[in-house]
Amino acid sequence: MNTAIDLRSDTVTRPTAAMRAAMASAEVGDDQYGEDPSTNRLQGRVADMLGKEAALWLPSGTMANQVALRSLTRPGDEVVASRESHAAWHEVGGAAANAGVQIHEIGHGGVFTAEELRAATKPRHFAIFPTTTLVQVENTHNRAGGVVLPQQEVLRICAVARELKLACFLDGARLWNASVASGMALDTLAAPFDLVAVAFSKGLGAPGGSMLAGGKDLIAVADRHRRRMGGAMRQNGIFSAAALHALDHHLARLPEDHANAFAFADRLRAGAPVQLDMATVQTNIVVFHLPPSFTLDAPQLCAQARAQGVLVNAFGPRTVRAVTHLDVDRAQCERAAGVLVELLAR
Ligand SMILES: *Cc1c(COP(=O)(O)O)cnc(C)c1O
Repeated sequence: MNTAIDLRSDTVTRPTAAMRAAMASAEVGDDQYGEDPSTNRLQGRVADMLGKEAALWLPSGTMANQVALRSLTRPGDEVVASRESHAAWHEVGGAAANAGVQIHEIGHGGVFTAEELRAATKPRHFAIFPTTTLVQVENTHNRAGGVVLPQQEVLRICAVARELKLACFLDGARLWNASVASGMALDTLAAPFDLVAVAFSKGLGAPGGSMLAGGKDLIAVADRHRRRMGGAMRQNGIFSAAALHALDHHLARLPEDHANAFAFADRLRAGAPVQLDMATVQTNIVVFHLPPSFTLDAPQLCAQARAQGVLVNAFGPRTVRAVTHLDVDRAQCERAAGVLVELLAR
């Protein structure tokens, strides 16, 4: 039995009994022949939700990002992305290794402006510059604390991108959370982008899977890159059934995670001298920094918390991340904050 309060990530959720039942009775076929009914249903549904012509199953969000980069760039190109984006920090250099591109990180706190994109885009006629061909936006932004990008700025960014002949990619692994927090429809958030990635394995609580959505021709290109990377699967309907179940039953409960994250952050900030900007606590992620006066570093604090049954992640030498999800309730989040407050008072 697992009694720890696990706030390391929203990926630690386990399939519920109902989700497992949906998986067990899933209609399946060979997805490499396009014959998996559950995957076809999921792809159609997600394409509709995101307002795109087509969508493609990917085994992970990391592969979705890699396939998107391969589909929208050429080796030697430069990609402009938000500072500390997942593609630059959490994919083991996959952008360089798999797509042969370099990432130029801009902005602050997960956000950047259209003017910053314009300044970062290298002029094409200059002999020595790499060609900037893509702008990548992450919404919500993980390392910045799950912040939602203002859609007005996203529209301005993508307008500048069009003018400068850059493609636009949205890493929306947690776009569901952005939609809930902003009250804006998924297709509105996705509209300015050529390709959009979403994940089923984060707040939605499915055991795996992501999807890329976009125009039919571009998704056909992505399909070939997926196959080349070894991401084309067979009776994938078992996974797709879990994702369909998550869309039916877990999407609507995301506001609970957001409220729990806020309660956790509020309790922590009220009780301990951590650096925690409550303005960043917009969804299900809480990122905070240890005060200079505190003698332990983040990994040490996390180890002490673990000994008391609370699991959080060291995100830097003095930075800690906690994420709420469907396997932790309000009382557990408050208890976890209480344990951290006590440790920080020592
Ligand atoms: C988790 C995450 C990914 C990668 O998803 P995996 O399924 O873990 O590979 C990509 N982008 C963002 C913003 C994420 O949070």
